[in-house]
Amino acid sequence: MTAPARLTVDLNALARNFHTLSAISGSPAHPVVKADGYGLGAGRCAGRLMKEGARTFFVARVSEGVLLRAALGPEPTIYILDGCPGDSIPDLRAANLRPVINQPAQQAAWLASGGGACAVQIDTGMNRLGFRPEDAPEPFEGVELVMSHLACADDPAEPMNRRQRDAYAGVCDRYPGAIRSFANSSGCFLGPDFAFDAVRPGISLYGGGPEGRPDPRIAPVATLTADILQVRDVPVGESVGYSRGFIATRPTRVATCATGYADGLLRSYSRGPGSVSGQVWLNGALLPLLGRVSMDVIAVDITDTDAALGDAVELFGPNRMLDDAANAAGTISYELLTSILPRVPRVYIG
Ligand SMILES: *Cc1c(COP(=O)(O)O)cnc(C)c1O
Repeated sequence: MTAPARLTVDLNALARNFHTLSAISGSPAHPVVKADGYGLGAGRCAGRLMKEGARTFFVARVSEGVLLRAALGPEPTIYILDGCPGDSIPDLRAANLRPVINQPAQQAAWLASGGGACAVQIDTGMNRLGFRPEDAPEPFEGVELVMSHLACADDPAEPMNRRQRDAYAGVCDRYPGAIRSFANSSGCFLGPDFAFDAVRPGISLYGGGPEGRPDPRIAPVATLTADILQVRDVPVGESVGYSRGFIATRPTRVATCATGYADGLLRSYSRGPGSVSGQVWLNGALLPLLGRVSMDVIAVDITDTDAALGDAVELFGPNRMLDDAANAAGTISYELLTSILPRVPRVYIG
């Protein structure tokens, strides 16, 4: 049975983006596959990226690292961005995961448990995770990688990018021999000064542009499609959906499509009463949503089309770029991709 809403993941496009990001930055890419590969399936995406040459991966949680280790086998290096919080060290060791040490308590716990290969994160201004530059630990046994993270890389004109870069470079000098990793997806596009030894792209592997809008160098990877479940003709004066979100001012042909909140269709896809927004692609046209997103369905205006029962609309994909769909919904690509619950089957091509 074909699911009425599905997420197609083009692994060939993922591979192309991986090579593009390395080529543009001039450094090998260590993929970030946290949040289940930004919703696309960490195991499948990382497995393909291994075939393309990736050998080091980053996830956020220890639990994600345990699953990724099971999927990828013993060979690749897997770093945990959270570090080794709480009582996680036995699980880290059992799955041969490496913590990104972010603070003195983590450093002490890791060393007390026997130490070993790890990374150190320097916080160069984001004030999130990591040691402040002036508090960076003395080099210790096991530090294989030193990293920091950009706060504003999606805005190349932001002077903070250069300040963070220079602060980071200064600290790196204290860890000779460690791999230096600084740039996320957007950082890959900031020029060779920002590339260091390895880049850590996430969103642009999965099709998001580096500046929050489509970029011709990044290929679409994820396509969210939903079937038309019912077609109806709504007479003038009648309304569609909850709260009479749309009222027909002309005879309107409405397609009810199988997608809603659980498929990542945020409520903000719909606008206020009476207004409409061009959101879904079908057979060459962008068609407006009518009224509100319902829990599990949306209504689409197909009056001027030959759309029929069983056709599928594209929420985002090659015809409706991920960043455009996100911006129209008042959000960003990261949130769209990571809002798609497991009921939506991931269909892999390539
Ligand atoms: C999420 C994350 C990345 C990847 O960021 P993108 O903007 O998705 O490329 C890289 N490094 C760290 C520390 C992160 O948390």
